[in-house]
Amino acid sequence: MEDKKIIIAIDGHSSTGKSTVAKQLAKKLGYIYVDTGAMYRAVSLYAMRNGYINEDYFDIEKLEENLINIDLQFMINPKTGLAEVLLNEENIENEIRTLAVSRYVSKIAAVSKVRKKLVEQQQKMGINKGIVMDGRDIGTVVFPNAELKLFMTATAKDRAERRFLELKERGEEVTYEDVLKNVVNRDHIDSTRKDSPLRKASDAIKIDNSNLTLQEQFDQILKLVKKITVLNS
Ligand code: C5P
Repeated sequence: MEDKKIIIAIDGHSSTGKSTVAKQLAKKLGYIYVDTGAMYRAVSLYAMRNGYINEDYFDIEKLEENLINIDLQFMINPKTGLAEVLLNEENIENEIRTLAVSRYVSKIAAVSKVRKKLVEQQQKMGINKGIVMDGRDIGTVVFPNAELKLFMTATAKDRAERRFLELKERGEEVTYEDVLKNVVNRDHIDSTRKDSPLRKASDAIKIDNSNLTLQEQFDQILKLVKKITVLNS
């Protein structure tokens, strides 16, 4: 009998490797992978380009009024087989991964009207199940009934090191200190905001991957998936 498709919700702090494990799972299970952080990053890029936000200014009302003009879609890159985000039909996959976008994204993601728009779109994507979605509120708000919920964490130092290497690899001129500051700052804003703060759902399984290899982590999570899909089939 074919295993029944489920929803896998992966939440956790910044740079905990959520997307790495989500992509591995989606590939192994033939599921759709949705990176919801990319959606909040795309809205941030839109706000930055239109001058709604900068270091000492944020025109929330202007952003709210213009949400209607923001269209987000995912498109599979045939070379990598992975979904990339389109902002009003423009592929912005590279632009949204910069530290500049990371500096503003948590402020943008704290705006309730932004969250409402993106959460609705995310819920539609999960209608047929067979989906792995990662973010900060997937197990608590987007899919509170997800069959498997994971909450990933690691020390801030480990996370900043990973993110620093990733950005360097992309050719960004950044310092480790700046990346660490950003990771800690985003966690703080994400965990203390009023709307959908980052927290572990009571039924989520916590995975601290500070001392796990990618393979160990994947094997551990795959075991959990198998247990649940067998139960559900
Ligand atoms: O996952 P990533 O680090 O790309 O997410 C960028 C930011 O988007 C997070 O720091 C958080 O502020 C916001 N976010 C969110 N809810 C989600 C996904 C991301 O608030 N579901």
